[in-house]
Amino acid sequence: MISPIPIAKPLINQEETKAVNKAIKSGWITMGKKVKEFERKICTLTKSKYSVAVNNGTSALDAILKALSIGPGDEVIVPSLTYISTSNVVLYNGAKLVLCDNDPDTFNVTVKNIEKKITKKTKAFITVDLKGTPVDYAKFKKLGRKYKIYFISDSAESFGAKYKKKIVGTQADIHSFSFFANKNITTGEGGAVTTNNKKIYEKLKVIRNQGQDKRYNHIVLGNNYRMTDICASIGITQLKKINKIIKQKNELAKTYTKELKKNKNITPPFIPHYSTQPSWYMYSIKVKKKVRGKLIKFLSKHKIDTRLSFPPVHIQPYYVKKFKFKRNQFLNAINSYDSFIDIPIWYGMKKKNSKLHYKKNKRIF
Ligand SMILES: *Cc1c(COP(=O)(O)O)cnc(C)c1O
Repeated sequence: MISPIPIAKPLINQEETKAVNKAIKSGWITMGKKVKEFERKICTLTKSKYSVAVNNGTSALDAILKALSIGPGDEVIVPSLTYISTSNVVLYNGAKLVLCDNDPDTFNVTVKNIEKKITKKTKAFITVDLKGTPVDYAKFKKLGRKYKIYFISDSAESFGAKYKKKIVGTQADIHSFSFFANKNITTGEGGAVTTNNKKIYEKLKVIRNQGQDKRYNHIVLGNNYRMTDICASIGITQLKKINKIIKQKNELAKTYTKELKKNKNITPPFIPHYSTQPSWYMYSIKVKKKVRGKLIKFLSKHKIDTRLSFPPVHIQPYYVKKFKFKRNQFLNAINSYDSFIDIPIWYGMKKKNSKLHYKKNKRIF
């Protein structure tokens, strides 16, 4: 009997249980000292000046748009190949969503594709570090400066990754992160924003807390995006483990790539030179059409979990209905979605598993 191999598995044990217990016993379970401590530790890790912890990654993105006063009349450019939050937050704020295509190798959005869509109304663009591979931040930063628009990075999948040997979190004007259960570290549900901009930081804190600057005094339209001290105490413990999680994921990825390279039906993930340490949120392979279905079935028969990842935004039913997008409007997004599958990668997965399963897969080709 082979035991099932899930697509992702958080590294959670007694340490987190103890921390939660302590938080509950302290008598303070909502946002308090633990959230502050978690934020300080995120700053230490990412080397960012400021950090604001929130209740999930979607709230982090929404709070960012609110802090930048993005609303009706503004345009925001977003890649179609992303998780739904990245584009939903543009609609929440009444701004105009402008979608664009991605690069077929990295799956990430390109400077060229964003630049083509910039108009006088463009207020910001959001890049997404898909699968844990950062975009080429320096180039996007330049683009933002050239047009005097904000560069927001949805780094939900790249917490702990390194760009040109520096940890992700300060390269864009603002970064958002998610600590959902399948992300590199988790607080169950949770998220955070990092920035070096004090003004934006001050606004984010107010927005997170119902738009109030002091008790019952609401100066802007905020929301309840607060993280609890219970979640933060899990996060503080998880932060101690981030380095070893990323290190082991990189070892697993190396083994996968070495073995899978030998198979002509599979293209392992492309790692650009600036991505000096991917966080490997997912290990995503491109598989030739003729064997893709067969491979998924085979892996499922052997209890190895796979994911087809999320379909691009422009083919999501709500968006098709609202904006009348055509399927082939963003061809690279469609082709990426049609070819890649995510295979398991998580701390604790034995190195030998990645070799073993590869050998079994070989039989079907
Ligand atoms: C996970 C994720 C989010 C949303 O985070 P939640 O914590 O689930 O709200 C946003 N963008 C991307 C790219 C993600 O992978």
